Amino acid sequence: MSNSSSVTPNDLSAFWMPFTANRQFKKAPRMFVGAKDMHYTTAEGRQVLDGTAGLWCVNAGHCRPNIVEAIQTQAAELDYAPAFQMGHPKAFELANRLVDIAPKGLDHVLFTNSGSESVETALKVALAYHRVKGDGARSRLIGRERAYHGVNFGGISVGGIVSNRKMFGTLLTGVDHMPHTHNLSKNAFSKGPPEYGTDLADELERIVTLHDASTIAAVIVEPVAGSTGVLIPPMGYLKRLRDITKKHGILLIFDEVITGFGRLGTPFGADYFGVTPDIMITAKGLTNGTIPMGAVLVTGEIHDAFMNGPEHVIEFFHGYTYSGNPMAAAAGLATLETYKDEDLLTRGADMGDYFGEALHSLADCPHVIDIRNIGLVGAIELESITGSPTQRAFSAFLKAYDAGVLIRTTGDIIALSPPLIVDKSHVDTLVDTLRTVLKSLE
Ligand code: PMP
Repeated sequence: MSNSSSVTPNDLSAFWMPFTANRQFKKAPRMFVGAKDMHYTTAEGRQVLDGTAGLWCVNAGHCRPNIVEAIQTQAAELDYAPAFQMGHPKAFELANRLVDIAPKGLDHVLFTNSGSESVETALKVALAYHRVKGDGARSRLIGRERAYHGVNFGGISVGGIVSNRKMFGTLLTGVDHMPHTHNLSKNAFSKGPPEYGTDLADELERIVTLHDASTIAAVIVEPVAGSTGVLIPPMGYLKRLRDITKKHGILLIFDEVITGFGRLGTPFGADYFGVTPDIMITAKGLTNGTIPMGAVLVTGEIHDAFMNGPEHVIEFFHGYTYSGNPMAAAAGLATLETYKDEDLLTRGADMGDYFGEALHSLADCPHVIDIRNIGLVGAIELESITGSPTQRAFSAFLKAYDAGVLIRTTGDIIALSPPLIVDKSHVDTLVDTLRTVLKSLE
């Protein structure tokens, strides 16, 4: 038991940590107390190189003075404004700036507070769009195996991670999943999009045949599946999905929570793959990980269907108390300015080559069964120990942390996604540390 006066860093019982084995964590807590640019400072005063941009979100590096100042100024000037029936200038400005950098055609923005909320918002927009068009029979949603779309009910229903779903009983009905595209027997050690597997997109045709296109509202995919281990789609796969969805009047939703804001060396994954979805989901890098915020971009056609819809549809019945929150909007504006001033949204194109080559130099380390990369994101997949599918990567995570490098693991996959300000010496430190760590694994 604890009360507020006794909750100190020595009492770790009250905070039920997300996605963390609390019992293990309490035995050897790892705490960050500061951060600057590419590094965290631990509670013990150690510097830890951030190999993951926090949780794929701190794209411009930590504690950037202009973003800090924008938040401070906004907090003192206008802390909060009601989100319904009222506005404040910065939310409108941020929507405009987002539309400026988004793929052409995505020109209206709904704000949320996280990636998970952006996913729910996108799914609801898709369903409601068909209804306002008088096509309400289109209610099925199609996701993909090994997809992560946040933790809310819509997101775990279309998501494809068994452990995120199995504890929660009946989820959304009318959901189908396409197969994932990860194929180590054909595509191991690929650089960029792998060669084999384009025709996996045709699985969508199979689902259409099964249910009839007239019942399907939308398909949702991450351009590159991040959280389940950096699964890069085969060449041409997303284009083919786009063709099939278009042919059947199905909306295509890209979940760009990770791939948005420069991660692949282009502003959005849509730009990298040359495929524009009907709805694009973002969060994370939008405010450089500072104030929680997400944004969902939709085409004019979707937006106008609501604006010109039947008489009773005078508004979209959806939104959050904090939609377009002033401090988040100020953080977003300062973040986009930083990305622009420092060309960060395309920096991953050049640095990505160096990063990719460096990662692939680890190919001969023990237990490595795959290395893959695209832009400034990559993964090292390790052979799992039978009966313990996470043991090696988690052990690598702990050893790397002790050696001063933050990596992320999922199953026996190590994922790397440094802030986009990363330079060659950081990449060298990251990879040299990992080489030592991998060589020390059982
Ligand atoms: N979609 C994708 C593709 C993500 O990677 C994430 C978070 N890793 C989410 C949605 C959920 O975002 P949040 O944790 O901000 O709710």
